[in-house]
Amino acid sequence: MIVTHGSRARRRVALTFDADLTSAMRARLVAGTVDSYADMRIVDHLVATRTPATFFFTGLWMATYPAETRRIGDHDLFELATHSETHRGFRPQCYTLGLAPPEEWHDEVVRPVATLETLTGRATRYFRFPGGCHTDEALRAVLDTGATVVHWDVESGDAFCDSADHIVDTVVPAVRPGSIVLFHIGGPNAPRTADALPRILAALAEQDLTPVTVSELLAG
Ligand SMILES: [Zn+2]
Repeated sequence: MIVTHGSRARRRVALTFDADLTSAMRARLVAGTVDSYADMRIVDHLVATRTPATFFFTGLWMATYPAETRRIGDHDLFELATHSETHRGFRPQCYTLGLAPPEEWHDEVVRPVATLETLTGRATRYFRFPGGCHTDEALRAVLDTGATVVHWDVESGDAFCDSADHIVDTVVPAVRPGSIVLFHIGGPNAPRTADALPRILAALAEQDLTPVTVSELLAG
C-alpha cells in the first residue's frame, strides 16, 4: 500500500519537498551549465516561519550537497525521508528518468537511508518512488525492505514551471484536510517554488490548515 494522504477529519497538511538528482543533472553541475539544484531559499523561508515540512532526498543529492543536507537535518521542524539513490524509474517509461533494473532496487532504497544516517544521524522509513512510478513487483520489493511508501494527493506542478502564479493556483484550490503536497527543491527544475511558498502558506493559514510533518499527519 502507498500512503497518499492523512486523516481528512483534521485540518492538517504535510508539505513535502523532493530533492531530486539524476546522473544527467549531476553532469550538468560538473559541466557548469547549471549552478545549483538546491534552492535553499525554500529552507530559509520554512525556518523563518517555523513551518514543519518533510524532505525526500535522493542519494545523489545528499552526496552533492552534504552541507545542505546537514543543515536541513539540524532542524527538528523537518522530517527526513528518501527518494532513491539515482532518481531512476522503477518501471519503464517513467517520464525521461530511465529505468533502475530490478537487481538494483534494493540498493536504490537502502543506500540513501544509510547516507542520510551518516550525514544527519537521523533515520527514516519513508520512501517515495522517483516520478511516482512503480510496478507491483517494485512496490513489493520496496515494502520488503521495511519502508513505508509516501506519495501525495496534491501535485504542486512546480517541476519545470516558471510561474509562481501557476503553482499557487494549482495548490490552493486542491489542498484539503489531510493532504500531502508535492514540491521540489530543485533549482532550475523547480525555479519558482520558493516564490510561491509564502503565498501558499498564507492561503493555508486562511483556510485554517496547519502544516505538519508526514509522521504527524499519519499519527493517530
Ligand atoms: Zn523526484
